[in-house]
Amino acid sequence: MTCHSKPHPAQCADSQPETLHLEQFVQTHEPAIRLASFIGIFALVALWELMAPRRALTVPKTARWASNLGLVVLNTLVLRLLFPAAAVGVAAVAAERGWGLLNIYPLHPALALVLAVAALDLVIWVQHVLVHAVPALWRLHRVHHADLDYDLTTGARFHPLEIVLSMLIKFATILVLGPSVVAVVIFEVVLNATSMFNHGNVRLPIALDRWLRWVLVTPDMHRVHHSIEDDETNSNFGFNLSLWDRLFGTYRNQPRAGHQGMTIGIRDHRDPREVDRLPGMLALPFRGAVTGYAINRRQWPDPMPGGESQ
Ligand SMILES: [Zn+2]
Repeated sequence: MTCHSKPHPAQCADSQPETLHLEQFVQTHEPAIRLASFIGIFALVALWELMAPRRALTVPKTARWASNLGLVVLNTLVLRLLFPAAAVGVAAVAAERGWGLLNIYPLHPALALVLAVAALDLVIWVQHVLVHAVPALWRLHRVHHADLDYDLTTGARFHPLEIVLSMLIKFATILVLGPSVVAVVIFEVVLNATSMFNHGNVRLPIALDRWLRWVLVTPDMHRVHHSIEDDETNSNFGFNLSLWDRLFGTYRNQPRAGHQGMTIGIRDHRDPREVDRLPGMLALPFRGAVTGYAINRRQWPDPMPGGESQ
């Protein structure tokens, strides 16, 4: 990408050779950057889980971890096979052709970076609400929720079809928004890190949790979303910034039964062979009914006999 290939001279202002060099380096080394950050953060949170676990796990860890991490390997292969250029490739094409809001209306690079990361996070939040609301999408997303325990590997456990859908939504967002290659990689690394952190079976001092969750989604905040109770499942959709749930009224402070007493998972799918083994997890979207977690399938109690329906 060269400066004169840009459609507007104004865009040349922030395209210094060092910036271009950095963009190119990040784009070329994106798989290595992602893998190194995944391994580093995984090791940190795994160690934290061993030293200060929040809850006792209910099913053996070995088979669960093998299945959850098996799904991570499968998803990585599927994504690299289907979309070899990945999200950074789409961001590079958008920058070269001048597509997307931030390419049409260039801002100061630091401001553009903050806006891009926040906007991508909002899209992820909306997407998360969507996969809870649309019954067919809930079928895919319930693979993530059917985990019988809650730890850092839960954060990486998604059905391949949901991962592909997620990538297509990300591509569309990048084409509309026009974030830089660096912003996309920063967002992906941060989302990966916060997802492992907030799914961590880790204990944080209560005061620190209360302070931190004004900005970030903490493990205690996101654990509420993995409760078996449907009203708790349909709250705290954020993966990164806690702002969206507070702003849109889906924030819930704590689970009713407390973090020790609450049950993790979903009703109707609690057989470990179905929800904790790779073949069962891959088949889960196609088995059984949608269940009442999907918002428009929720069952409401019958009105009081002889009374007005509420
Ligand atoms: Zn969810």
